[in-house]
Amino acid sequence: MKLNKTTLSDLPSGVSRPQYNRANLKHGIIHIGVGGFHRAHQAMYTDRLLQQGGNDDWAICGVGLREADRTMQSVLAEQDYLYTLIELGSDGTNALSVIGAITDFLFAPDDPDRVIEKLASPDVRIVSLTITEGGYNVDDNTGLFNHEHPDVVHDLQHPQQPRTVFGFLTEALARRRNRGLAPFTIMSCDNLPHNGHAARSALLAFAYMRDAGLAEWIDQQVTFPCSMVDRITPGTTPAHTEWLKLSHGIEDRWPVICEPFTQWVLEDNFCNGRPDWASAGARFTGNVAPYELMKIRLLNASHSAMAYLGYLAGYRYTHEVMADSRFTDFIRAFMDEDVTPILGDIPGVDLVGYKATLIDRFSNPQVGDQLARLCLDGSSKIPKFLVPTIRALIQESRPLDRVALVIASWAVYLKGKDEAGHLHEVRDPLAERLQTAVQDRDSLNQTFLGMEDLFSRDLIHSRAFCAAFESAVKRLESDGVLATLESLSVT
Ligand code: NAD
Repeated sequence: MKLNKTTLSDLPSGVSRPQYNRANLKHGIIHIGVGGFHRAHQAMYTDRLLQQGGNDDWAICGVGLREADRTMQSVLAEQDYLYTLIELGSDGTNALSVIGAITDFLFAPDDPDRVIEKLASPDVRIVSLTITEGGYNVDDNTGLFNHEHPDVVHDLQHPQQPRTVFGFLTEALARRRNRGLAPFTIMSCDNLPHNGHAARSALLAFAYMRDAGLAEWIDQQVTFPCSMVDRITPGTTPAHTEWLKLSHGIEDRWPVICEPFTQWVLEDNFCNGRPDWASAGARFTGNVAPYELMKIRLLNASHSAMAYLGYLAGYRYTHEVMADSRFTDFIRAFMDEDVTPILGDIPGVDLVGYKATLIDRFSNPQVGDQLARLCLDGSSKIPKFLVPTIRALIQESRPLDRVALVIASWAVYLKGKDEAGHLHEVRDPLAERLQTAVQDRDSLNQTFLGMEDLFSRDLIHSRAFCAAFESAVKRLESDGVLATLESLSVT
């Protein structure tokens, strides 16, 4: 059965589906970047809200800005914007729901003005974004908005036919201002620290280049709440699409797969109203920073910790790593003894429970999270996820063996070969520089840890850390990952 509004009532009984009248809904939200994550996360929370009734002003209109979004547009249109969310349980059971919160999708390259007018519509009160970390157009070296990007230059010259998210938002806000309409909130749901601040500074940098008066109005009127978003959403594979058809008779051209766990913490800072996502399981707070810190220092840092060590040892998936007790012991000790003491209190969070959930999530065999994916772009991850913890441990003269081992495993991984001699490509924007830095074994401490832009001055200037790093590299070279982990758990 092809999934669309006429077949909703024929879905198998275990599949949840919209119980609300989708024809009555208004688009209060426009979402730019309708990929897997938005469909598994914000659209799912919004669907839960719509199921409760009384929230008809908050349906979502999707927008795609890139050529790659053309397929999503045509698939969703063919299915009346319905799709199946498959939650992959660790015990092998899957929960299925058909999500109805998205009720339209505009593909911007075909008709940019239609998208700008939709953004300028008085019904629209929130514009949310998942445009990936790179979508904010910030130069990694300077931390500044990249004014020279050809699409930015184009958008400044052709404000009525923009290509970038900044061009669309700025033109729509200009029209709202001219028409005496209130602006919309811009809500980033991308996985980057202080995502609201990142969205704000990028948009303002662009708007100031276009029109200082408009930029000041945006600065004063528009809010950019920060959010912490969490739900592992791997790419859908043909096998999942096929499974859905064979097991449930549902022909969905692009279902979404994700883990059962989900979390969304939002800064309560919306300039033009908001839905009550809290009643659908999200949390509103005045300050997202502690939650963000918890996620980055525990989840993301553990991912990096298991990625390089696991890959060198020959594992390829997180659940394979977590099935080895030497790794689970190591990750538990890293979270409990290295990270937790420096995290402080996180309001309303049971950290012991959170860490146990992380171990379960990492161990879920159905999610099939690839270590190769977690190994990507270490130069942007390690400095954010792990270095702040290491600096705090150095300052407090606490044990450094585990964190030094993780940094040592990254250095060894950068040589491009695992312990069995299999070659791998190092995928990182700084790959060349990083690989040069690990070439000469004798000067490894200076050339590698000496990259102060990545490691800060504190690491290379800490004798204790340099000694722990040197000893970890030696052990990896002579004994290998598994024996090194074993010896750590004994000491
Ligand atoms: P995806 O590849 O399925 O979708 C990415 C979307 O972003 C597409 O619609 C694409 O067109 C759009 N996009 C990319 N670059 C853009 C740009 N420069 N301007 C405008 N649009 C752009 O990826 P996804 O799994 O949906 O993840 C998207 C983002 O969500 C991630 O980068 C991350 O920040 C966040 N996130 C993802 C996960 C996850 O597990 N997948 C978890 C937490 C947060």
